[in-house]
Amino acid sequence: MWLIIIIIPLLIAWWVATDARKRGYSKGASLVWFLGVWLALIVFLPLYLILRPKTPRQDELGKGTRVCPYCEKLYQGEISYCPYCGQKLDEEM
Ligand SMILES: [Zn+2]
Repeated sequence: MWLIIIIIPLLIAWWVATDARKRGYSKGASLVWFLGVWLALIVFLPLYLILRPKTPRQDELGKGTRVCPYCEKLYQGEISYCPYCGQKLDEEM
C-alpha cells in the first residue's frame, strides 16, 4: 500500500518535469521541480501550475495559428500531424 503513496506523486512529478522541459526550463530547473513535486506534492504542484510559462511563442500568434515543436513551421488549425515534417502533434488536447 505504501508503494502507491510513493508512485503516484512520482508519476505526477515526472509529468511536471517533462512539461517543464517543453516549456523551456533547463535540465536542472526541471529536476528541482521533479523533486519538489515528488516530495511536497501539495505545495509544488499548484505552484508549478501557477508559475509555469506558456508554451513558447504561442501567445504571440494569431488565433488558430500554431508552431510545430519539431520543425518550428507555422500551421493552421487543430491537426494531428505536422504537414511539413509529419511529426505527431500531441500538444493539443
Ligand atoms: Zn513540423
